[in-house]
Amino acid sequence: MRREMVQEQIRERGVRDPRVLDAMLRVPRHEFVSEDMLNGAYADQPLPIGEGQTISQPFMVAAMTQAMELAGEERVLEVGTGSGYQAAILALLAREVHSMETVVPLATAAHARLARLGYKNVQVHSGDGTLGWEKAAPYDAIVVTAAAPRIPPPLVEQLAEGGRLVIPVGAATEQELVRVRKIEGRITAESLHYCRFVPLLGRYGWPSSHS
Ligand code: SAH
Repeated sequence: MRREMVQEQIRERGVRDPRVLDAMLRVPRHEFVSEDMLNGAYADQPLPIGEGQTISQPFMVAAMTQAMELAGEERVLEVGTGSGYQAAILALLAREVHSMETVVPLATAAHARLARLGYKNVQVHSGDGTLGWEKAAPYDAIVVTAAAPRIPPPLVEQLAEGGRLVIPVGAATEQELVRVRKIEGRITAESLHYCRFVPLLGRYGWPSSHS
């Protein structure tokens, strides 16, 4: 099922980075969904993971990861740990992964799951990821897996020189996936494609009443 997922949902739709495709083949996605969702683990869609949150569609995980342009030695930050699935993919593609989650039970469960599955280079932090995680900054790449009303300034500040920030930005109902680059201290942004994510809450996200 995983091979079919990678071929039909990811490769055929244009994600070609061989390291990303390999990671998507290796991470057991069914370990990141609840038992009653097992049948859909490899389906072409996001799935509920409890607390009103979702594990992203496989294609979206692959496309965002490819956009981060990882070669293997990076320190990266993910905002929105959720199930921990994207963090596991990143663990195979970067040296050090920090992942932030506001919903404490999700952070706790993801931490336990990642440890049980043997992903040793991932640290899960609970807290507002729109503020970034200053302690380990700067990051070579940052990915935000929830929809932001605007680009949170702390995330841009915590990007290393040459760093990439991949983030869905826009309205609550639909967003554009944006890639920001920091080159010689200057910021450029490019729009990659349309997407739909659950709202990013917190200081530079949507107000909590929004969800
Ligand atoms: N990457 C996840 C999918 C995440 S869904 C996976 O692979 O399963 C988006 C997640 O972002 C949700 O779990 C939500 O609780 C979290 N979130 C929302 N606002 C946040 C914030 N300000 N900081 C950290 N996490 C946040």
